[in-house]
Amino acid sequence: MTVAPPVIEKLREIVGEQRVLTDEVSFQQYGVDRTTIWQPAPGVVVLPETTEQVQALVQLANAEKLALVPSGGRTGLSGGAVALNGEIVVALDRMNKVVDFNAVDRSVTVQAGMITQQLQEFAEQQGLFYPVDFASAGSSQIGGNIATNAGGIKVIRYGMTRDWVLGLKVVDGNGNILELNHGLVKNNTGLDFRHLFIGSEGVLGIITEATIGLAKPPKELCVLVLGVVDFPSIIEVLKTFNDGMELTAFEFFTHNGMVRVVDHSQVPVPFESEAPFYALLEFEQTSEAELERAMELFETCVMEGWVEDGVISQSLSQAENLWKLREDMSETLSRWKPYKNDISVNISRMPEFLAKVETLAAEQYPDFEVVWYGHIGDGNLHLNILKPDELSIEQFTERCSGVSKQIAALVGEFRGSVSAEHGVGLLKKDYLGYSRSPEELLLMQQVKKAFDPNGIMNPGKVVDAA
Ligand SMILES: Cc1cc2nc3c(=O)[nH]c(=O)nc-3n(C[C@H](O)[C@H](O)[C@H](O)COP(=O)(O)OP(=O)(O)OC[C@H]3O[C@@H](n4cnc5c(N)ncnc54)[C@H](O)[C@@H]3O)c2cc1C
Repeated sequence: MTVAPPVIEKLREIVGEQRVLTDEVSFQQYGVDRTTIWQPAPGVVVLPETTEQVQALVQLANAEKLALVPSGGRTGLSGGAVALNGEIVVALDRMNKVVDFNAVDRSVTVQAGMITQQLQEFAEQQGLFYPVDFASAGSSQIGGNIATNAGGIKVIRYGMTRDWVLGLKVVDGNGNILELNHGLVKNNTGLDFRHLFIGSEGVLGIITEATIGLAKPPKELCVLVLGVVDFPSIIEVLKTFNDGMELTAFEFFTHNGMVRVVDHSQVPVPFESEAPFYALLEFEQTSEAELERAMELFETCVMEGWVEDGVISQSLSQAENLWKLREDMSETLSRWKPYKNDISVNISRMPEFLAKVETLAAEQYPDFEVVWYGHIGDGNLHLNILKPDELSIEQFTERCSGVSKQIAALVGEFRGSVSAEHGVGLLKKDYLGYSRSPEELLLMQQVKKAFDPNGIMNPGKVVDAA
């Protein structure tokens, strides 16, 4: 579907001649995220520079009944930023500046297109710390992080993106500019629309600015990688360390994933012996006593028979290499176009849940290789099914989505989430009912209708308008 020339002309008037892209290369670049399932087909790509320009785009889309797809760093894994039907892709790439920094409030206001890593670096330059972090932080944008309520590797200690958003400026689907919460810590004046926009995946409007709280930087961080004998033991190790000390991260991955990362990223194996599973723990080394405590807990885990071997970082570069084993996993596996499940249950129910998913995966995917990893300290599991070379992406996706339904049903039985942190987008829309009740889904539709009465905001994603 093409966008009519008079509309293209109006778009040029709003954002400028050079900022309206209609070529196929731009469509391929801006029309899709990191999912490999869909072939992008936007109608046009625009790159606004101000909130007022975004407002004018939304007003135009309402007048012309055209759909908009907000596009951040396009690192999403659920198809949220995919444009399939001639939509106007609104790429926030040029809205990447710091608007204000307040040392007393310990907060920074940035435009939504700022790259996550740049925000982390800005915080560091101020002697502060932005703790939300994950492997795509070098490309993802803060607006995209907020729109997906991104989690990552430090959630166990610092929470999700939601916990750091003090204020938002958005243009809703009506074309109104809303300034939400004004950076306040306390504000009990009725419904907090800021939280509706966090995790809304672009279906209510476009985030143009965010005020983000910053933390004090952690002290020296120490990384431990442990070889763990089986799934249930990972949970025992988590409980032992969580009870015994404060962790900043607790991640896990399987051996078949780890060897691929070692090969791809040219990092050393953590230790000579092989284990089926590895746990990666991180803690702040506030004192020698903290280190000794970690060693005692490690010995307990060995004595209990949960852990076979382990290594503790002795330098920053060793800590970085150990982190790569987990952080490079998603990028490494992308060569196999994996089908990803991103699921969570309460940590207390993890052992029982893991046993059932493991059995299901073994039964349903006997001929596929499965790589497990995830933020297990948050009850979040990433199940990656690798595509065999001989299958087309369509055949592979069809088989995996059938099994995904069974996994989603199991998640539903455990009252878990079919999308722990990657969002719903196109990929998990059909499974939403396993995690949310019919009453909730109806309310979601009605909320969508209130903010976006003409259904122009990211149509087809997450939930349809009532
Ligand atoms: C290697 C790798 C590792 C990852 N690890 C993690 C992880 O540990 N934890 C995690 O949570 N995620 C992870 N992700 C997923 C992804 O990086 C995050 O979801 C990230 O927050 C997406 O940000 P983005 O700017 O790329 O958003 P995009 O992919 O561009 O968009 C995501 C959604 O947000 C909407 N959107 C984007 N910008 C705006 C805006 N300004 N206003 C309104 N809506 C908007 C889009 O329409 C879309 O629905 C990973 C991805 C990769 C590739």
